[in-house]
Amino acid sequence: MNNVQKRIEEHINTLSTFTATPDKGTTRLTYSEEHLRARNYLKRIMKEYGLVVHEDGFGNIFGKIEGMLKDAPSVLIGSHFDSVPNGGAYDGPAGVVAGLEVAALFAENKLKPKYPLEVVALVEEEGSRFGGGLMGSRGMVGLLSEEDFSNLTDKNGISTVEAMKLIGLDTSLTKKRDSNTIKSYLELHIEQGPILEEKNTPIGVVEAIVGLTQLEVTVKGRAGHAGTTPMDRRADALVVASSMISQLPELAIQEGEGTVITTGRLHVFPNGANVIPDTVVFTVDIRSGREENVRNVIEQVSRIVETYNANGITTSVEELLYIQPKAMNQEIISLLKQKSNKLEVPYCSINSGAGHDAMVFSDFTEVGMLFVPSKDGLSHCPEEWSDSRDLAKAVHILYEAAKTLTEAE
Ligand SMILES: [Zn+2]
Repeated sequence: MNNVQKRIEEHINTLSTFTATPDKGTTRLTYSEEHLRARNYLKRIMKEYGLVVHEDGFGNIFGKIEGMLKDAPSVLIGSHFDSVPNGGAYDGPAGVVAGLEVAALFAENKLKPKYPLEVVALVEEEGSRFGGGLMGSRGMVGLLSEEDFSNLTDKNGISTVEAMKLIGLDTSLTKKRDSNTIKSYLELHIEQGPILEEKNTPIGVVEAIVGLTQLEVTVKGRAGHAGTTPMDRRADALVVASSMISQLPELAIQEGEGTVITTGRLHVFPNGANVIPDTVVFTVDIRSGREENVRNVIEQVSRIVETYNANGITTSVEELLYIQPKAMNQEIISLLKQKSNKLEVPYCSINSGAGHDAMVFSDFTEVGMLFVPSKDGLSHCPEEWSDSRDLAKAVHILYEAAKTLTEAE
């Protein structure tokens, strides 16, 4: 086992001890006692690695290696360090630790970057305490105003500001960061799905974080007695809805490129065993890494639904949610692939089905992301596990990429 791999294991194991639920996974809510212990540990390691530590008004932590150019923007590398209740040891910390180890390699090799390198440990990505999620990154880029931040409370009514003060954090520190101070953002994350493990590939280069659309389809027919209404006189909303739903999977399969479609909720009215349903409302969840795929599928769903407007049936489609897919930066994708080739580490392209801090930064700077396999595809549970050998490979790829991006010699 090489040094990088050994230190990755040490850091991840140590961070996993900062949990409110020992033996029942990692529970590290933002601004909790465990959060404080984790941040103290991260700051200590940053200092050991020769990084200059600073924090912002949200409690995000930065460890910086200065660049030779004056006032040049930084290459950020990191992830979040909060967890869901009874989660795993890798979701978030794997990326923070990868950032630390990239910085350690910079120090060991006495590199002098032109642009600064900053390891970042972000707060409240999961939203497990204050809701919403991606709080640290959204706050940093100014998508979450100071006022909205102060108004957030946990389920016990404790506000963000009160919670920060309780663990001794300085709430008066600068919150928003000028995006001109950021050159690029790199993040390593566990895949949280089964694809890389099934392909037996240690590295996924993320092409895009998938967009998400939720439609609500309403089908109105005519209620009637289940016993006395002849079959040819019916306008059965559920029979029509099920006919629609049965056509949906094929739309995603035809669209391809990882497009997925799901109907997960169905409301039937009046929902009586002996009444012909007069109204059915169901959801359609559509995801893809390319906006074009999402748009195409939405259009086809609407077309299918419309064709049923006859024989006493009326239909409508409403868009409840539309989140654009976020493509990662093409040049950084190429750079990560090029470095993987150079290091002879096998990789494949992959889309992220889950949201990440990288998604937030992608509107403000050049963003690149790597995935490592998750054992059995599991995440957000105590069984979550990734191989430190894969993590070490990712660190070396990120190190090479960071060298290029910071123009280090
Ligand atoms: Zn995460």
